[in-house]
Amino acid sequence: MATNTEDTSLDSPVLATLSPSRASDFKTCPQLYKFKAIDKLTTEPTVHQARGTTVHLALERLFEQPAENRSPERLYDLFREAWTELKPVEYPELFDSIDDERSWGVETLNMLATYFSMEDPTSFEPLALEMDLLVDVEHMKIRGILDRMEEVKETDADGKERTALVITDYKTGKAPGQQYANKAFFALKIYALLIRISRGVTPARIRLLYLNGPTEYTMDINDAQLDAMAKQLAALWGAIEKAILTDTWPAKTSALCNWCDFKDTICPAFEHERSSAPKSDG
Ligand code: SF4
Repeated sequence: MATNTEDTSLDSPVLATLSPSRASDFKTCPQLYKFKAIDKLTTEPTVHQARGTTVHLALERLFEQPAENRSPERLYDLFREAWTELKPVEYPELFDSIDDERSWGVETLNMLATYFSMEDPTSFEPLALEMDLLVDVEHMKIRGILDRMEEVKETDADGKERTALVITDYKTGKAPGQQYANKAFFALKIYALLIRISRGVTPARIRLLYLNGPTEYTMDINDAQLDAMAKQLAALWGAIEKAILTDTWPAKTSALCNWCDFKDTICPAFEHERSSAPKSDG
């Protein structure tokens, strides 16, 4: 899972590091970035977050098994083990009842079953899992965790065999429509850039696997795209530094607000809506 690792505060108005997730937040809405990266606000854990964390851990451990053991049953066991570990530490109060927890578990196991219709995990060996990357991109330090990277053998347009580097990100949320798929690749393109810089090899392809579908989006990558991404990243970095220095964080409303944790609580763009909503008498 792409993880956020930010080191920023208004006491030291210098952007130290930027993660692909936070870069994406700033692009979506500077106010959202401020809530997460500057104010470091945390929100109540949700069943969706719990699913994402547990599924990622189970899939990571699946690939640590010998290939012949990477079966659906083994993955289901790894999911149950991961949940047993994570629940008391990170999600002790998440479910109101055993029935709610059981329904969540069954739904998640169904999602894991669909994973096997998307790829055969016995057919390749990942080069890396949950890679913690901290890479200098020009004057910027970019940090994030990449789910998986592997090499695959394939035939190019001229009929020649080649080894292609592929990076993959798992998603447990709903896949965006095809018209938004390009936007969904934003963070993964940054990871491709980090891999090019740190390994000296341009990934041939990036993949988003939405297990809750299943839906797979794939994009071929070339150096020109990554050069453009480096420029976009530099522009974002500059805009974030300016926002920090001027303490200016516009709330940029869009359809994505409906998925934002801060819409119903503190986002200034929805203050009027909140104050005019009928009050519950509890
Ligand atoms: S609700 Fe919308 S405008 Fe407000 S912080 Fe979230 S994304 Fe930004």
